[in-house]
Amino acid sequence: MIVISSNSRGVGVVEAMEALKRGGTAVDAVEAGIRLVESDPEDTGVGLGGCPNILGVVELDAQIMDGRTLNAGAVGCVARYEHPISIARMVMEKLVHVFLVGEGAERFAREMGFEEATLLTPQMRAAWEKKVREEMGIVDPSSLKDAKDLRHLSKWATDPYTKMGTVNFIVKDANGDICMGVSTSGWGWKYPGRLGDSPVIGAGGYADNLYGAAACTGAGEMAIRVSSARSTVLYMKMGMSLHDAVSEALRDLNRLTDQRIGGVSILAMDRDGRPTCGNVGDSPPSYAYMTPEMTGPALGTGICVPFAG
Ligand code: ASP
Repeated sequence: MIVISSNSRGVGVVEAMEALKRGGTAVDAVEAGIRLVESDPEDTGVGLGGCPNILGVVELDAQIMDGRTLNAGAVGCVARYEHPISIARMVMEKLVHVFLVGEGAERFAREMGFEEATLLTPQMRAAWEKKVREEMGIVDPSSLKDAKDLRHLSKWATDPYTKMGTVNFIVKDANGDICMGVSTSGWGWKYPGRLGDSPVIGAGGYADNLYGAAACTGAGEMAIRVSSARSTVLYMKMGMSLHDAVSEALRDLNRLTDQRIGGVSILAMDRDGRPTCGNVGDSPPSYAYMTPEMTGPALGTGICVPFAG
């Protein structure tokens, strides 16, 4: 059994391992771990306290994929519920669909009995107002909701990844089943309705017991363009080692020299439960991991592929 997370503070890792030790599945453990990150107001890239869009509305995205069945569920632009990972799990388990967004996702959350929450914290509201007033030069931030043209403001969208950002969990349970989950508030100050890679199955995450799993953080627009998570797993299917598969998926990202908007990290696990994490650049990303004999999470150091643009 093993739990790995992109959250280098290790939030939720112990609880995910406890879920496994109680006999829970990899799906249970991924959900348990990610829910704690979603409830952590200190984390400005996920759930409660996450970065809002340009209008000051926090829009959450999440996905979960069960590598045993290849079942998956995803939600995007959820503005009124704290735990998109749990809504995504319900989509996976209760619907024939795999992906709901906006009002439909919230309607489904209501039907499933989830409680509504206010996601914009006072600190994040203040940060949004400051950004809009001081950097964008708009005196009244609330006037933006009536603006006819927000296009020119999309250049202010930023990746909260540099602070904390999106969370990825990948878990292998006692049966050898692998599950992957992702949750995010996406880029701060994004255009309303923008989805990054995080809820997109195959781009932001993918899991297959037979070969392994991968999930991404960073510039979601880029991970979508080269299907980073599915590619990583597919490269393992084609016979590459974990290290080579992640490196190849990073080289795919290297090809995106046009509209290269930021970095992407790929957290990955092979079918035997070996973990790694990789990015493009010269400073390898770290990730948290925990196996049953450990008393808490430790930090692993990943790999880098040089930028070859
Ligand atoms: N990948 C996320 C997105 O594009 C952001 C992040 O990982 O920080 O929405």
